[in-house]
Amino acid sequence: MKDSTKVITSGRDKKWTQGLVNVPVSRASTIVFDSVNEKNDTTKNLDDYKLFYGRRGTNTHFAFQEAIRELENASGSTLFPCGTSAITQSILSFVKTGQHILLPDAVYEPTRDFCNVILNNLGVSVTYYPSLVSDDIESYIKENTTLLFLESPSSLTMEIQDISKLVKVAQKYKLITMIDNTWATPLFFKPLDFGIDISIHSATKYIVGHSDVMMGVASANKKHWNKLKHHAYLLGNCVSPDDVYLAARGLRTLHVRLKQHEASALIIAKWLSKRKEVKKVYHPALKSALGHENFVKYFSGSSGLFSFELMDEYKDKIHFFVDALSLFKIGYSWGGYESLVLPITDFSKIRVNSSSYIPNNLIRLHIGLENIKDLEADLENAFNVMNKTAKPYN
Ligand SMILES: *Cc1c(COP(=O)(O)O)cnc(C)c1O
Repeated sequence: MKDSTKVITSGRDKKWTQGLVNVPVSRASTIVFDSVNEKNDTTKNLDDYKLFYGRRGTNTHFAFQEAIRELENASGSTLFPCGTSAITQSILSFVKTGQHILLPDAVYEPTRDFCNVILNNLGVSVTYYPSLVSDDIESYIKENTTLLFLESPSSLTMEIQDISKLVKVAQKYKLITMIDNTWATPLFFKPLDFGIDISIHSATKYIVGHSDVMMGVASANKKHWNKLKHHAYLLGNCVSPDDVYLAARGLRTLHVRLKQHEASALIIAKWLSKRKEVKKVYHPALKSALGHENFVKYFSGSSGLFSFELMDEYKDKIHFFVDALSLFKIGYSWGGYESLVLPITDFSKIRVNSSSYIPNNLIRLHIGLENIKDLEADLENAFNVMNKTAKPYN
């Protein structure tokens, strides 16, 4: 069955839908039993999808977990209150004091901040490797290294990693591998098929797709599922069933939305690469992307998020460009139906490896579902405003 069908059918077993098209919202803390025996039987093996206490989820949660599990080709998927907690709690579940872990230098900033503060306090050491290393990852592995984290494309500069090479080295040294797979969604890249142990998403982005819910998911292969599930439970995770309902609703249109995000983002990215004001476009599907050859090797499609760099002479004018946009709103996050823009000019705290690529005047765009002619006109107008402005921004 193709993914475009799976996003429609997955997790809609009748035991959860009760015959409705959508799985109803089941709110619960306490679930009551008819007898002591029934209580004991239900809870004894801590099986997946067993209804016995609200924190372990209700049918609303189980159905959505199953949908993600199926799309990720995983043994199980667990839900978190946001993407960041999915990342931090997945890492926490698999590290101990004295160990060392590896993260790409262009990792999502809150992931880095968690490692630098919380893991550091716990005595887990961290090295940030250049996102584009492949076989050379071996030189970063120490005696006590136990975990290799990937994020591909990486944040802002969109480096696409050589996933199979990294996984091969990780397996040689028995490192657990995790990936932040948010950009690709489970439709454009399936990490577990490439030997990665745990795939993590900020569902807040494309899965929810409407900028109205925070959620995270992590999916594990057979070897790591029980531990991930148990530790996430020990850490006290739980997600509101109303939010899960909205995430499941978003999932049903993920395929058609992504196709449009992909088509529109490619058109805008190519249009931008022809502008005289633009130095470089970091769209994974374009040759100018860092690690583009890996995009070709591993991904079956591209989503709507990419970055571009303005020519050096616009260094002090980037704000004029961004402020002049009207359809592209200035804001964090992405993956909703609307276009967004974010300027990033200071990389001093978010790239620590001297081999990492550091751009000058970076602008990140999320291409939403608006008409592309309108988006192009908005960008064109912003370029004109910037070009007409003689003074640097202060
Ligand atoms: C947004 C984002 C996250 C964090 O997700 P939240 O749901 O906002 O906590 C993690 N990784 C990437 C790549 C993201 O873009």
